[in-house]
Amino acid sequence: MSHIVIIGCGVVGAMIAYELSLIPGLNVTVLDKQPPAQGSTAAALGVLMGIISHKTKGRAWQMRSHSIERYTTLIPELEALNRRTIPHNQQGILKLCPVGEDLAKWEQLAATRSQQGWQLEIWDGAKLQASCPQINCQNIPTAIYSPQDIQVDPVALTLALVDAAKSRGVTFDFDVPALQYDLTTTNLHHAVKSVQGKSVDWLVVAAGLGSLQSLPNLQIPPLLDLRPVLGQAIHVRLPNCLGNQDFQPVITGNDVHIVPCLTTRPVTEYWIGATVEFPLESGIVVPEAEKLEEVRQSAIAFCPALATATIIKTWSGLRPRPEARPAPIIELLEGFSNVLLATGHYRNGVLLAPATAQKIIKLLETG
Ligand SMILES: Cc1cc2nc3c(=O)[nH]c(=O)nc-3n(C[C@H](O)[C@H](O)[C@H](O)COP(=O)(O)OP(=O)(O)OC[C@H]3O[C@@H](n4cnc5c(N)ncnc54)[C@H](O)[C@@H]3O)c2cc1C
Repeated sequence: MSHIVIIGCGVVGAMIAYELSLIPGLNVTVLDKQPPAQGSTAAALGVLMGIISHKTKGRAWQMRSHSIERYTTLIPELEALNRRTIPHNQQGILKLCPVGEDLAKWEQLAATRSQQGWQLEIWDGAKLQASCPQINCQNIPTAIYSPQDIQVDPVALTLALVDAAKSRGVTFDFDVPALQYDLTTTNLHHAVKSVQGKSVDWLVVAAGLGSLQSLPNLQIPPLLDLRPVLGQAIHVRLPNCLGNQDFQPVITGNDVHIVPCLTTRPVTEYWIGATVEFPLESGIVVPEAEKLEEVRQSAIAFCPALATATIIKTWSGLRPRPEARPAPIIELLEGFSNVLLATGHYRNGVLLAPATAQKIIKLLETG
């Protein structure tokens, strides 16, 4: 029975653990230096920009399409296994297009999606105003509606994956830094000796920004260069639901998302975010209050009622961004025969977690 050890229990590590638990004959252990879903995943908005993304081919689209398809079965599967709901929004994503937007590009994308079996609708101002009266349509003549894209609470999802994987025999060990485990051997090509007294066949590194530090005794090639990109967001409350209470899609414009919180019905709370703040030369990134205010003002420009909202809390998190190469990194660690990387998901870790798990399973199968 192969023993696979996963380092990191954010959405990516938890997803890999759960998908592996569905394969008979594997022994899976997950280690995390903290409780689950405390890293980048804790800060995410959970907006899955799949069908509405501009990716149409290659790895980027394949990973998106696999993930969207898997989410349609995964969420009910986890809800049934754990006997509890995972807050998620199936009312789609609505993208607001300002004056001057290249509509030909959207028409082309809608045609491509139709050929691929997905739906994208192009709305004029009248349709937008009727469906979402909370939007200030003055400078928004068009919107793109993607009814099959979803939003999911990333922490609730990760905890559901952990519980479901546990119930299927996966072992979790939290609050233990990987440093404490004997992860090296004298044989450079076969990196891992044993974890919890059990010999290890494969090590999967899904430690987000901590991926380098999680392997302190291994010589990591300079190829694995992850940088933190900060994101800040706000949780607000209103006296009433924004617009039509029966139609509460995620609204996105100018790279700002307005996300309905589905824990209250009718919806009166929303998440707004997120900033994209790059690190200084030193690698340090400090949250800037003005950047968060810019995001809030952008949301208010689209949806003026948000100006009166009470701020319940603000938060920030660091996205793991691979330097000088596309996100994410899912491959064998150079120089090793049994260490796989599943990291560097930058802005789309929640979206791409199912496809990441699928790729890791393929790599394990092909050895
Ligand atoms: C503000 C914000 C909004 C976002 N919104 C979205 C969104 O709408 N949609 C989307 O798809 N993505 C979004 N993202 C991106 C998303 O959060 C990340 O891509 C994703 O969470 C990465 O998941 P992960 O499991 O790789 O990393 P993490 O969640 O960071 O998990 C890594 C885990 O590894 C553990 N670890 C680290 N080092 C060690 C060690 N040495 N030993 C043991 N364990 C270790 C950590 O404790 C942590 O639990 C957003 C990010 C931010 C900051």
